[in-house]
Amino acid sequence: MIEMAVVGGGPAGLIAAREAARAGAEVMVFEEHVEIGEPERCAGLISLSGLERLMLPANGVYLQNVVRGAAIKSSTGFWRVLDAGRPMAAVVSRRLFDAEIARQAERAGAEIIRGARVRNVERDGECFRIITSEGVYRACWVVDAEGAGAALMRRFLGAGAESRRWIPIIQLIVEDHGLDPRFAYIYLKDYLPDFFAYLIPINDHLGKLGIASRIPGLRKLLDRFLREEFPSARRLNSSSHVIYTGYPIDSTRLFPTRFIPVGDAAGHVKATTGGGVVMGGLIAAKIASAIAMSLRGESPEKSLAEAAWIIGELKRIALLRRLIGKISSPLLDLLVILATSRIGCFYFSRMGDMDFQASSIFGVRR
Ligand SMILES: Cc1cc2nc3c(=O)[nH]c(=O)nc-3n(C[C@H](O)[C@H](O)[C@H](O)COP(=O)(O)OP(=O)(O)OC[C@H]3O[C@@H](n4cnc5c(N)ncnc54)[C@H](O)[C@@H]3O)c2cc1C
Repeated sequence: MIEMAVVGGGPAGLIAAREAARAGAEVMVFEEHVEIGEPERCAGLISLSGLERLMLPANGVYLQNVVRGAAIKSSTGFWRVLDAGRPMAAVVSRRLFDAEIARQAERAGAEIIRGARVRNVERDGECFRIITSEGVYRACWVVDAEGAGAALMRRFLGAGAESRRWIPIIQLIVEDHGLDPRFAYIYLKDYLPDFFAYLIPINDHLGKLGIASRIPGLRKLLDRFLREEFPSARRLNSSSHVIYTGYPIDSTRLFPTRFIPVGDAAGHVKATTGGGVVMGGLIAAKIASAIAMSLRGESPEKSLAEAAWIIGELKRIALLRRLIGKISSPLLDLLVILATSRIGCFYFSRMGDMDFQASSIFGVRR
C-alpha cells in the first residue's frame, strides 16, 4: 500500500512528492512519459522569488537567462518598459527544471515510475485503486497533478476547472529575434483579444515566442504576428497546448475526500499570465505537507490554511484579469503608461511580486 500516490510528474506533482517524502511519507509518482520534462511546452519564465519559495537554486543547470523587467508594446504600437533595475526572473529550460525537481524528490525517498500512464482511479473502501499501464496499485491518498485536461479528475470528481477559460496557445522557438535579452516582451494586439503575445529571450539569438487565442485559425494569427514583429526571425520547433485564465479549484475543501487535485489540473495558475509553476508548486507543497501530517496523526490545519491563502490569491488574480478584460484599449494603454512610469517602476522594483500580483498591487502582505 502506497501512502501517497501522485498522478503526473510535472512541477506540481514532483514538488508534492518531494515535500511529502521529506516529511517521511511513502510516495510513488506515476508519469506517463519515459523522460521527465518532455515534451517541453512552457516559456519557463519564473520569478527569482518564486524559485526561492520553491527551494530551487536560481543558478541551477536549468537556467537559460535572467530578465529584469518587461517591455510592453501597446495595441496602438508604442513601447513602454517596466524596468526593476535588478534581476527579477529566470528563464529556465523546463526539461532540466522538472528533471532537477525529480532528482530532489527521489533523493528525499519518493519513487517515480516513468512511462506509467494512470488509466483510472477508483475508490477501494477507505483507499484507492490506481490502475496504470504498468499494473494496479493501492494508495491511501491521491494527489492528482495530471495537468491541463484533467480527464481523471473530471471522471473521479465529476467536475473540473472552468472549461471556457482554457485558451489554445502555440509556442515556437525563434532564432534571430534581435531584441535585448535582459527583458521579457509583451505584445498587446487588437486581433488577439483573449491574451497577449510574448517573446521570452533565451539569449541574444534564441527566444520562446507564444501567441494564444480562442479565435479559430491560430496558425494564421501566428503568421500575421510574425510578419509584423519578427519578419526576419527563423522559426524552429513549435508546440501547441492550452493555458488557463480562470478561477482555481479550492483543493483544500477536497482534503476530506483524500483525492486532491493540484497544479494545472486544479487551475492553480495566475489567470493574468497563465503562469502556474510557482503558485501551483507552492500549493502542491502545502497540500503534501498537510497529507504527511495527517499520515503522522498530526493536525494538517496550518498547512491547509496556507494553501487556502495562496488559492485565495489566485482567485483575486482571476478577478483582476476579468476586470482588465473589460477595459477598453485606450484605458489599457493608459494603465500601461502609469505602470511603466518612474513611480510605477520604483514600486515594481521595491514592492512588485510577479506571483502574488493582487497582493502586491493592493499592498497586502501576509
Ligand atoms: C506555451 C506555454 C507557456 C507557459 N509559460 C509559462 C511560464 O513562462 N511560466 C510559468 O510559470 N508557467 C508557464 N506555463 C504554465 C505551466 O507550464 C504550467 O502551469 C505547469 O506546467 C503546470 O504544472 P503541472 O505539474 O500542474 O502540470 P504539467 O506540467 O502539465 O505536468 C503534468 C504531468 O502529468 C503527466 N500526466 C498527465 N496525465 C497522466 C496520466 N494519466 N498518467 C500519468 N501521467 C500523466 C504529464 O505527462 C505531465 O508530465 C506555460 C504553459 C504553456 C502551455
